[in-house]
Amino acid sequence: MAADHITQALWSATTPFRTYPQLSGDIEVDVAIVGAGITGISTAYNLARAGQRVAVLEALKVGSGTTGSSTGNLYAPVDERLYNVESKHNEETLKAVASSRSTAVDFIEQRVQEYNIDCEFKRVPWYLFSEPGNDLMAQVERERRAAEKAGLPVTDQAPAGFPFKVESITNIANQAQFNPLKYVQGLAAAIEGENCRIFEGTKVTNVEDGEPCVVHTEQGKVTAKHVVMATHSPKGIYAVHTAMEPYREYAMAVRLKGEVPAGGVYWHVQQMQHYSVRPYSNEQGNYLLVLGEAHKVGHQEHNEENFLKLEQYLTERFDVDHIVYKWAAQNYKPADVLPYIGTSPMQDHTYIATGFAADGLTWGTVAGMIITDAILEKENPWATFFDPKRFTPIASAPKFAKENISVATHLVKDWLFYGEAEQLKDIKPGEGKTIEIDDEKLAAYRDDEGKLHVVSSVCTHMGCIVHFNNAEKSWDCPCHGSRFSVEGEVLEGPAYYNLAKPDATKND
Ligand SMILES: Cc1cc2nc3c(=O)[nH]c(=O)nc-3n(C[C@H](O)[C@H](O)[C@H](O)COP(=O)(O)OP(=O)(O)OC[C@H]3O[C@@H](n4cnc5c(N)ncnc54)[C@H](O)[C@@H]3O)c2cc1C
Repeated sequence: MAADHITQALWSATTPFRTYPQLSGDIEVDVAIVGAGITGISTAYNLARAGQRVAVLEALKVGSGTTGSSTGNLYAPVDERLYNVESKHNEETLKAVASSRSTAVDFIEQRVQEYNIDCEFKRVPWYLFSEPGNDLMAQVERERRAAEKAGLPVTDQAPAGFPFKVESITNIANQAQFNPLKYVQGLAAAIEGENCRIFEGTKVTNVEDGEPCVVHTEQGKVTAKHVVMATHSPKGIYAVHTAMEPYREYAMAVRLKGEVPAGGVYWHVQQMQHYSVRPYSNEQGNYLLVLGEAHKVGHQEHNEENFLKLEQYLTERFDVDHIVYKWAAQNYKPADVLPYIGTSPMQDHTYIATGFAADGLTWGTVAGMIITDAILEKENPWATFFDPKRFTPIASAPKFAKENISVATHLVKDWLFYGEAEQLKDIKPGEGKTIEIDDEKLAAYRDDEGKLHVVSSVCTHMGCIVHFNNAEKSWDCPCHGSRFSVEGEVLEGPAYYNLAKPDATKND
């Protein structure tokens, strides 16, 4: 089935963007926030309300990062399951996760009301369910027990008209969904003013932690007492990069021939992960969204298949008319199922907020509260649970070790057994290959017009070799998730700098 808009998210395609100026020259503020996704804008709101002078520096547009490519669901449970939070930590941590995340959903609702943000915010139930015959009841029931223990309003009943066959269900009332891009755009517009300045098209190229901190951009520098790295994965070298796994995940918005199901966050458990389904309606009509098919970044070249699997999943269960939008985005899974929010071990005045898995609309909002309290030197009930300086050998050791082995394997294997031994002329239109010419490691892509685009294949973050991503035509680093365009420009992830241009561009 053909899609109307390949690799474009529903939200960015249908939401008008307001424009903010570029930074020009040097300024001085109390807090510089790098990144204007939900984390950066929520933090800016809290700090500006508390009287701090804030500058938000965004490389692209407000909300145009992962926030604008999410599925817009807001819930207290987590991608990795509440029962895993309890088993890897304890009941106190389980309750901290549920209470912080529920408070964040309330916070978003209050901001929507305070500023009358038109973002289709709705309170809806969240469901985790299994279909008959796939032996996954136990997982759903374990989650129900954990949700009960966490004090969430949970039942084991499916409502009338539930759009899937159900064997077992965990039904949590009073969760929510919205259009995340309209929300972030609306909140940014509401807070911009004397205390809070927002700059777009302002790429941060380096942060010096100190007293004061200095944030360098291509257009000038910002001097600040504190810096908040709200870039999803912090830019540069941070210890947390070794304790997170970057994942690429796929989403699709379709039109149905009939009615869309009632509002709700529908998580359908599968053997290894789940599909997340939700309806969404705006002035353009009704959509059904599905999210799933996650895999580690840089580990799968032919990822058009992932879209096909999503499509098959929906067409087997709904009367799909056509696909309107399909897109992919990134998430960072923490080693011990908790996010990293606070100052990182190597910095004193730089705060990070990362490791959100696919739950970061809510975690980003929690981060806004925790980091604001830290800067204002106020007690926060959740700060210690998500402190990046935590070390929980029992909870994180096996996954931490596995992740570092995976990174080390890529570093060594990709360098030793490098290249696909092809000549540039063998690369077909639409293909990308890594290749070695005169001892230079290169990433070469031939576009549909036959033009070759050649850049260095060595990731500028920590020196791993990038892999081609066929569906999105990008070079993705399997180590820490940095992604680059075929021209070598940074798209996302921890790398600050573009892939180098080859010493002497080779012609085919
Ligand atoms: C497909 C998918 C669906 C998801 N659905 C949900 C969901 O339904 N519910 C949920 O809770 N979570 C969901 N998530 C997770 C959630 O979207 C993210 O965790 C969250 O949006 C992260 O927000 P953020 O503000 O931290 O990062 P981002 O939104 O990525 O914002 C970071 C910003 O930093 C900017 N930036 C980067 N580098 C620089 C630089 N050098 N200088 C200046 N600016 C820079 C970027 O341009 C970007 O705008 C989903 C994730 C995926 C992958």
